[in-house]
Amino acid sequence: MAQPRSVDVAIIGAGTAGLAAHSSARRHTDSIVLIEAGAHGTTCARSGCMPSKLLIAAAEACHAIGHAAEFGIVAERPRIDGAAVMARVRRLRDRFVGGVLRVVEQMPAAQRLDGAARFLDGQTLQVGDQRLRARAIVIASGSQPFVPPAYRELGTRLLTSDSVFELEQLPGALAVIGGGAIGLELGQAFSRLGVRVRLFDRGDRLGPRGDAIVSQLATELFRSELDCTLHTEPQARLSDDGRSVELEWSDGDGRACRERFDYLLVAAGRRPNLQQLDLAASGLELDPHGIPRHDPLTLRCGDSAIFIAGDVNGARPLLHEAADEGRFAGTNAARYPDFQAHRRYTPLAIGFTDPQYAVIGVQPDAPGEHELAIGEVSFADQGRSRVLGRNRGIGRLYGCRASGKLVGAQLLGPAAEHLAHLLAWSIQHQLSVEQILAMPFYHPVIEEGLRTALKDLRRALRRGEGPRSDCIDCGPGD
Ligand SMILES: Cc1cc2nc3c(=O)[nH]c(=O)nc-3n(C[C@H](O)[C@H](O)[C@H](O)COP(=O)(O)OP(=O)(O)OC[C@H]3O[C@@H](n4cnc5c(N)ncnc54)[C@H](O)[C@@H]3O)c2cc1C
Repeated sequence: MAQPRSVDVAIIGAGTAGLAAHSSARRHTDSIVLIEAGAHGTTCARSGCMPSKLLIAAAEACHAIGHAAEFGIVAERPRIDGAAVMARVRRLRDRFVGGVLRVVEQMPAAQRLDGAARFLDGQTLQVGDQRLRARAIVIASGSQPFVPPAYRELGTRLLTSDSVFELEQLPGALAVIGGGAIGLELGQAFSRLGVRVRLFDRGDRLGPRGDAIVSQLATELFRSELDCTLHTEPQARLSDDGRSVELEWSDGDGRACRERFDYLLVAAGRRPNLQQLDLAASGLELDPHGIPRHDPLTLRCGDSAIFIAGDVNGARPLLHEAADEGRFAGTNAARYPDFQAHRRYTPLAIGFTDPQYAVIGVQPDAPGEHELAIGEVSFADQGRSRVLGRNRGIGRLYGCRASGKLVGAQLLGPAAEHLAHLLAWSIQHQLSVEQILAMPFYHPVIEEGLRTALKDLRRALRRGEGPRSDCIDCGPGD
């Protein structure tokens, strides 16, 4: 048998984490190989963050016209050119993918290998007919949509985030399975673009979890706009002509319901891409989900020379985390056995729905070592939000009683994508509530809503001293 090719670092997967690992490892060695089993371009650009936000942008444009009457502007009911909407999604999506492809093409050819990698042992990989022996390995193989077995036989009428952006036309009717970020973002966007949407979730809540008050309001707000059937896993069958999907479920009173849709979009979570890797041969210890046990600070699996980064490790399946983990895993692999722990970002997750939501830092259902005090703002009467006609939602800020520091938050409301960054940055810099309040807040801005919540939190940290007042942005405040 031919000798295996020897390299310092082998990276499995050329997605965001793998590309970041490659670029950081290259600062230490040129003896690297980046292995990709599928199409280059990353999940983010091809079928994740970017096309979903492009679809949402179209939906927002359409929604704004529909709501112009609130401002005294009478607009004609918009005519939606579904083919043009989907063509723009794909055209700009392809630009983003093209940017990634250029990065890959600029890599030395010897550092790229196409094919599916699997372990032969803890340091050897098989890729097609090639064997690779690596001093250290980075697993960055990402994740894929999970489709429950009940929905797997729907042929071309079954959609996931991998296929939905390939539609050339907007469907007439779409059923969505899953009320998490992806299901809500896509369900709401299609609905705002005139598609008849019904969203199902087997739980009783939509959107953010961890704070019952926020999730209850989120569920109410999303249900006020979208047909949502909760506590329900409908049955699905392909229609006789194969051109639609028939769903059946029973309502709260046990009555049988049946509805026909053009497609079923399944957004029921994602599973790490581990099946092809033959991890049994790697010698790694696996957790009950089949994911290699690893240290989140070094990303090292057990006491091996294998590191794991990005969605595949199941910890924080988000783009900025995949990039960060990839960078550290790449550096640690290249410097192995001289590897280091890295400082993790403050947890930050955003749902690009309307209203947007964000989950930041420590959460009330997992307070860790903190005893939490909570400050709150309702966006219903927040000045700037009302001016913009976007006055829906709530902000809940969590402070540590012992230190007086802001440690976490949940937001549901206007501009949450921006407010969430201010909070995450403050938390990461370990600012106290007093220190944040000592910084300027312009007027009139949505950030003033954060100030209201911070003042409420300050009161709560002082254990409820003084009456809670409705903070008036235009007035002196307190
Ligand atoms: C619809 C949708 C919307 C999203 N929106 C957001 C958002 O708004 N913000 C956000 O932060 N995140 C978002 N995400 C999540 C984000 O896209 C992911 O966290 C990120 O892309 C993960 O990057 P990764 O490198 O871990 O995986 P990927 O980019 O998926 O890369 C993994 C690569 O490994 C390859 N591979 C798999 N197995 C093998 C093998 N055996 N051998 C070789 N190669 C292999 C795969 O082909 C793939 O190219 C979204 C995801 C989806 C699906």
